Amino acid sequence: MTTLTFAGVLHAADVIAPELPPTPSWNYPALDEAVGTHVIVKHENVQPTGAFKVRGGVSLAAGLTESERRAGLISASTGNHAQSLAYAGRLAQAPTIVVMPLSAPEEKAHATRLLGAEVIRHGATMGESCDYAGRLATERGMRFVSPGDDPAIVHGHATIYLELLQRHPDLEAIYVPVGSGSGAAGACVVRDELAPDCRIIGVQSAAAPAAYNSWRSGQVEQAACDTRFSGVATSRGSQLPLSVMHGRMDDFLLVSDEQILDAMRLFSTAAHTLAEGAGAAALAGLVQHSERPRRCAVVCSGGNADAGEIADIGAVAAVA
Ligand SMILES: *Cc1c(COP(=O)(O)O)cnc(C)c1O
Repeated sequence: MTTLTFAGVLHAADVIAPELPPTPSWNYPALDEAVGTHVIVKHENVQPTGAFKVRGGVSLAAGLTESERRAGLISASTGNHAQSLAYAGRLAQAPTIVVMPLSAPEEKAHATRLLGAEVIRHGATMGESCDYAGRLATERGMRFVSPGDDPAIVHGHATIYLELLQRHPDLEAIYVPVGSGSGAAGACVVRDELAPDCRIIGVQSAAAPAAYNSWRSGQVEQAACDTRFSGVATSRGSQLPLSVMHGRMDDFLLVSDEQILDAMRLFSTAAHTLAEGAGAAALAGLVQHSERPRRCAVVCSGGNADAGEIADIGAVAAVA
């Protein structure tokens, strides 16, 4: 099986650099006060697609062969990988199709179309959408891009942690939101090389714990997917990230959707940051963690909050 390597991450950083500048990673006194420790926020919400996944797309685009480019790209996504793939297709001038589950936010489907990709709505869960995209890929001879299991994508996502640990080498812990685990696996690869004492702590919604269950058992597991937050709405684990996370990721926390909503609100009030639910999951993990590392980072992985999420941040804030 393919493996993930630090050299692969460095290569991805090289191909991403001309397209995407490093994102900010800084600190907010009001957030420190609320959380009770020194927190660095890594801002992936400021990426051009509103989420870190564009790193994976740009990394993928750089490695496509001429025939893959001509045949086109196809994948499945709840919305942020969709926009990343559309961005990649536009860069590589490759026709691109993304299958999105029926439950995925329309805002994300619309943004994906605006980047030039075709969106097909099919399937109740990411698992079903992925299976359908795989069948279409075979029928149409397109390049199927696995959202979690493609090494170019995972190496691209890992460049977040290269930037973060190069700038803040003394972090004791990094909280990483988990859907498929591509980000968390990339974090482990970079940590092992640059900061072996820094703990990587995954955070997933308790309402969609497939990657958590997989991390515990070491096998790809399926689980119910009832979270309302699209960026972490996965129904099964992914083999490639699991092969790194299992045994190398230090801890894994589950948080409720209510705790995620509270963390979205905290981002908005204490760090003037609009995070989508998945983008606030890492902060939710830190807030409810029984430990308080002295210096830690949370990845604000995305800012593509849908209309319902934005309304609910306001609703919660209004009664507080
Ligand atoms: C995809 C996504 C995640 C989860 O990342 P994985 O690499 O699938 O574990 C977290 N936050 C946002 C905003 C995402 O789009």
